[in-house]
Amino acid sequence: MEEQVYAVADIGGTKILLMLVSPDRDVILRRILPTPSEATPELVAGVLQEALFHALQDEGRDYRSLAGLGVCIAALVDFEEGVIHESPNLDWHEPVYFRKMLQDYCRCPVLLENDANAAVLGEVKYGAARGHRHAAYITISTGIGAGLYLNGDIYRGSGGFAGEIGHVKRFGKGRRCGCGGYGCLEAWASGLGIARSAISLWGESDPLKGPLNSAAVFSLAAAGNTLAASIIENAVDDIGTALANLVTLLNPSCLVIGGGVARNQPALIGMLQKKIEEIAVPPAVKITRVKVEAARLEPDAGAWGMFAMMCR
Ligand SMILES: [Zn+2]
Repeated sequence: MEEQVYAVADIGGTKILLMLVSPDRDVILRRILPTPSEATPELVAGVLQEALFHALQDEGRDYRSLAGLGVCIAALVDFEEGVIHESPNLDWHEPVYFRKMLQDYCRCPVLLENDANAAVLGEVKYGAARGHRHAAYITISTGIGAGLYLNGDIYRGSGGFAGEIGHVKRFGKGRRCGCGGYGCLEAWASGLGIARSAISLWGESDPLKGPLNSAAVFSLAAAGNTLAASIIENAVDDIGTALANLVTLLNPSCLVIGGGVARNQPALIGMLQKKIEEIAVPPAVKITRVKVEAARLEPDAGAWGMFAMMCR
């Protein structure tokens, strides 16, 4: 009988990553496909099933050689039940029995997990937080989210919704967040939040400045624009405050920072380390010496986390 393989996938708002991996962790195949726009759950499941079918076929295999399928997704996921409760990225707002939809098709064990939870496990097993028993992965991109790894295991909370650090409150004033709340961290400090701050200052369509996304604000700040610099300073201050509170509350030994905004701004890591050392409760930084690290497995951290979950 041919060797079994694991399939792992990360479903994002714009892209789906699919990999076939051997039990020895060799990547047999890695593909990126676009997430269909205005995608229903049935459509996304169908795209993934078809991509998996072709991937196996291209490797001269079929479903019988699949040892397991692990899927992570940017959504509020009940891991135990395999249900997606909410995915703002995909505009899904009703419970979806997504794991069952996949399972009916491929007849191997299927795991479904939140992408940040999967990413923290990936970074702990194979990446920047290797060897840590208490760690967190924080993604700073369009939104802000976290995966927690405590006492040597993923911490999901009672409903599977732990780690929603983008929606901790009391940041800024008078800005509604995508979650429906006001004063959320990510409404101000995510890539989208930074862009919103710039747009409220300069308007959306300044032909001299081009599209005011977070990268443009970082460039303006680096070029000496003091208003842009203050937007960035406030965002870093807000993220640093939220992370320092996380350190005070949970006493992790490692925080791994990932996501598009962090990836494009490597200086952010040092700024966050400094802020945390300034304001977290002293023993959590002076005795534990918590380390802030850049993610090492991006953009595949979630997929590797799903692999680790299936192989243990
Ligand atoms: Zn929110």
